[in-house]
Amino acid sequence: MNSCSIAVLPGDGIGVEVMAAALEVLHRTGTRIGRGFDTVTHPAGAQHFADTGVALPEPTLAACRAADATLFGAMGLPHVRGADGTEVIPQLDIRFALDLYAGVRPVRTWPGLPVPLADPRGTRIDLVLVRENTEGLFFARGRGTVDADAAYDTMKISRAGTARVVDFAFRLARLRKSQGRPGHVTNVDKANVFRSMAFWREVFHQRAAVFPDIAHGDAYVDAMALNLVLKPWEYDVLVTENMFGDILSDLIASLVGGMGMAPSADIGDDHALFQPAHGSAPDIAGQGIANPTAMILSAAMMLDWLADRRGDAALADGARAIESAVQGAFESGAVRPREFGGASGTTDITRAVLERL
Ligand code: ATP
Repeated sequence: MNSCSIAVLPGDGIGVEVMAAALEVLHRTGTRIGRGFDTVTHPAGAQHFADTGVALPEPTLAACRAADATLFGAMGLPHVRGADGTEVIPQLDIRFALDLYAGVRPVRTWPGLPVPLADPRGTRIDLVLVRENTEGLFFARGRGTVDADAAYDTMKISRAGTARVVDFAFRLARLRKSQGRPGHVTNVDKANVFRSMAFWREVFHQRAAVFPDIAHGDAYVDAMALNLVLKPWEYDVLVTENMFGDILSDLIASLVGGMGMAPSADIGDDHALFQPAHGSAPDIAGQGIANPTAMILSAAMMLDWLADRRGDAALADGARAIESAVQGAFESGAVRPREFGGASGTTDITRAVLERL
């Protein structure tokens, strides 16, 4: 049986709970498609930092580098801080270490679950935000300076860093177009104010010219925040700078009912990591009420990525099987997550998905 090696980093808080759910679903899917997943769990996270003084042990990072892919729960606890006062967030270190430059955040509405905003004409929300993950304002992390009167953080926008993530967004739009979606990329920036953002826009248009089959447009980030609330169903693929992407990815998760529904992937040329868009949610950790859907759908994204890398269509079949099982669970009304006013906990939702696999 073909086997994929998966580094598993459950992390902190509900990361541990939703990871257990996703692993059950992954292994059940493997049985169905005739593929094996060699999943090995590794320590990392804010609690690990509190216990040992190390957030991301070197062997854990090495395991992520060596594995075919990494599944990641959630990391960070508000009370665990580094010496400079910022939160311990090892996922950012992994992103930089493995050069996972494209943060991919798809959101879509699910039949059977209510949405906060609905198009009166019935068009469903189905969009992907591609966030530049390795520079932008996050380049300043660990590099900021502060004197008695002011603090400074620097935004970095490089030509190569922008071009590769813009290309990724166009290739994604092309793939989505082949699956019947619009095939349109919207560039989100603040080119009217910042030199760095005008440079980003210039590079975006240079790269757009290489993809003449894909339509594109520009938007300022403030207008995009407005439009994502007014008419989110009009967008297909969005691409933006790191900090803007950080903020907009939470906004789009809210459009489909909450963080528990939003999967994500951090993808580079050689490695990829799959994690829910949400954090460790200490407010609900340990109560068995976290919605595992985002983590389960992140595992499905991993199967799609592995299918593409290995040229193995069975893995893509596995991704579709997970998505239909999730859809079936919600559409049938068998379960409804608490974010949607229901009473289903982590185990209820996981069981409903497993039953449909
Ligand atoms: P981070 O900064 O690490 O992304 P955050 O501060 O944005 O984390 P989250 O941990 O994502 O915060 O939680 C935000 C809110 O969403 C919390 O109220 C949390 O309980 C809720 N939430 C997050 N994930 C889930 C989930 N899987 N199921 C249910 N509620 C969730």
